[in-house]
Amino acid sequence: MSVKKYYKLAKHVLFPICRSLTGSGVRETLKIIKKEFPKLKIYKVSSGTKVFDWNVPPEWNVKDAYILDKNSRKIVNFKNSNLHLVGYSVPVNKSFSKKEIFEHIHSLANQPTAIPYITSYYKKYWGFCLSHNEKLKLYKNYRNSDKFKAVIKSNLNSKGCLNYGELILKGKSKQEILISTYICHPSMANDDLSGPIVSMCLINYFSKMKKLDKTIRFIFIPETIGSIAFLSKNLSYLKKNLVGGFNLTCIGDERRHSCMFSKYGNSVSDKALVAAYKRLKIKFKKHSFLERGSDERQYNSPGVDLPIASIFRSKYAKYPEYHTSLDNFNIVTEKGIKGGFDVAREAVEILVKKIIPKNKILCEPQMGKRGLYATLSTKDEKKIQRGYMSFLQYADGKNDLEDISTLLNIKLNLANKIYNILKKNNLVD
Ligand code: ZN
Repeated sequence: MSVKKYYKLAKHVLFPICRSLTGSGVRETLKIIKKEFPKLKIYKVSSGTKVFDWNVPPEWNVKDAYILDKNSRKIVNFKNSNLHLVGYSVPVNKSFSKKEIFEHIHSLANQPTAIPYITSYYKKYWGFCLSHNEKLKLYKNYRNSDKFKAVIKSNLNSKGCLNYGELILKGKSKQEILISTYICHPSMANDDLSGPIVSMCLINYFSKMKKLDKTIRFIFIPETIGSIAFLSKNLSYLKKNLVGGFNLTCIGDERRHSCMFSKYGNSVSDKALVAAYKRLKIKFKKHSFLERGSDERQYNSPGVDLPIASIFRSKYAKYPEYHTSLDNFNIVTEKGIKGGFDVAREAVEILVKKIIPKNKILCEPQMGKRGLYATLSTKDEKKIQRGYMSFLQYADGKNDLEDISTLLNIKLNLANKIYNILKKNNLVD
């Protein structure tokens, strides 16, 4: 069973890796996924590359990081948990007073057993993270006059790169479904690894299908900058061929199923997702697009306009363990992943099978030269003629056959008939 296999892989192999937006952790993660799926292609985009309004950041890598007390005892140690270091910390090797060092130690007073996950990607900073209980204990153990040494052996390489992975399952049609998930968080399970686990289960599932009606493209990217870099490379192709898809994040706990529709909430992806919940008899919560926080932001932005919905169990930022060391494989379970996978698989399957006609010609095609123009202006011929033209008006890749039959107020089998004639004449995809 694929859920068990990829769950175990994530828990035992991927979880300990120190991932960030860039660096060896992302590459190692992609290499492990590629071992499972050799068709995965690993791309790189050089640091400094302009991608829309952003620049790909320098590549960040860490060898070691710790704080030493006056007796050279390591009182905070990155090697015990990679959450102990603020992501993208700049290198440091310096002594500090007690007051100074504690200003660089972050904790959560209201979650005293959790190590917080903190990053500073775009502002130069260094810092450590500890559970609040640990921090208080340390604070009590030392005098105000005590000295400490912070050592961070990190590297920010402006000649480095950003990596992402892509796997394409070719279908009969060029029409494409995008499954996006991210691989940029260090040791956390729901906010990060749950998405890749479900994506791997989906690849495994759909690659076994004999005839896929549509192409499915899977991407494993660093969040935000990764989707921006990916879009800047592929936007015109995607705009032409993408019909829908899903962003998978926080999809492995056992709490309530939830989702976020694409921006206007009426895309084929949204409808496929609702149909999937219905088929599986799952009650779900719909989060407003105004609460977006993951890559749905990029896919739905003006001019990009790719109708991508997000599938969650607990939404990011809405569950207590979010962005802390408590987001681990105690809350992400095989059962939770299986539930998320079922919804995603069902939704993708519905989307793959949907007929989503797309007009191949700009403006009205000339029907006469194709023998589709009513030469006799009888009422019946005019009606059929109008049917073709109305169908073509709504064949913009945003409506499936059912939507079009509703819009035209005609029966589904008539819509299907018109579709087949238009397709035969090479007027729709
Ligand atoms: Zn996150």
